[in-house]
Amino acid sequence: MQNSNAGRGANESGGQSEWWQCSRREHSARAERAVRRGEGLHRHTPLYGSQREPFHPEDCHSQPHPCRRVICLRSMAGRRKIRVQSPSFLVQSAAVRIITDENCTRYSSPGHPERPARITKSLEKLRQQKELVITWATPGKVEDAALLRAHEPKHLSRLMIPRDFDADTAYHADIHEIARTAVAAGLDALKASRAGETVFSLMRPPGHHATRNRAMGFCYLNSIAIAVLEAQATGTKRVAVYDFDVHHGNGTEAILLDKPGTAFFSIHQHPCYPGTGTENVGQNCFNYPVLPYTPREEYRKVLERALNDLKKFKPDLVAVSAGFDAYAHDPIAQETLEAEDFHWLGQELRKLSLPLFSLLEGGYSDDLPELIFAYLKGLTGK
Ligand SMILES: [Zn+2]
Repeated sequence: MQNSNAGRGANESGGQSEWWQCSRREHSARAERAVRRGEGLHRHTPLYGSQREPFHPEDCHSQPHPCRRVICLRSMAGRRKIRVQSPSFLVQSAAVRIITDENCTRYSSPGHPERPARITKSLEKLRQQKELVITWATPGKVEDAALLRAHEPKHLSRLMIPRDFDADTAYHADIHEIARTAVAAGLDALKASRAGETVFSLMRPPGHHATRNRAMGFCYLNSIAIAVLEAQATGTKRVAVYDFDVHHGNGTEAILLDKPGTAFFSIHQHPCYPGTGTENVGQNCFNYPVLPYTPREEYRKVLERALNDLKKFKPDLVAVSAGFDAYAHDPIAQETLEAEDFHWLGQELRKLSLPLFSLLEGGYSDDLPELIFAYLKGLTGK
């Protein structure tokens, strides 16, 4: 009873799948019968990691489980073998993976709000805190092919030409490499989310303003759009982006516009940079402009409305552009959210019970580390 055999592999659509075999014949037989009857089975044990627990159908009908990590097994059963198709059923782990690389602090412009301390101070905070279990990871590499799904070849060459892109977005030596590393972190976050992990990419530069052929708004390569297109290219059918940065994610919108199987939901201040996002665009881009100084209760309602709309899209995977500049004390926007609102937002996203990854976008206040920490606590169910 204490042992189970579990395996992992790729399913037909190229995503991952899990199958479990309970060591007690009657458990497997009962599970099989339930699956044949089309009943949802529920379990709340981690699918991944060393603490795998046996599959116990009789425990698993206790729904809704308070840990909110229940998953539904609704796939076909083989003989003494239950197959679980991902990604809809993956469990979120209680720990959080942070993907970061201190090389991303190598560039700066004097007085620019998008500064290295955003990362170094956040790292300090996360390293010294005791509430979250953190698994640290550094990003790998990214191939040009992944970048070229979202950007034009000439844009990649332009990033290497030593000339500023606009007044906000300076050229820096190595910015091409550093932005690529931020993209790589996004792709690693995608992988971790598919493996059931709670994951956050703590990198700079941000990416959601970068369009196919233009660096702008502190952004050079659009990490979130690249990750969405990678997810689709590797088997995920429906991917939603939830962008709660206070600025409209114009670049992500432009890249994903009318791409089947993707949907973009952006909640942002308007009027504000970059001035777009006043209405829905195409078949799949949904914008929720919020006036400056909107009271936080109202702002939350808009965040909630966007999340409800996202649920209706029925995504298999959610990519989050996590910007913390709707914070009341952010120096470059005029909104009203507090740390507890970001905590709440993390909790709401966790409740989706879907594979989900978050990439840092904006957030320029000195309190950014506390805001990220609050969000991560919400995401991990703390
Ligand atoms: Zn922003």
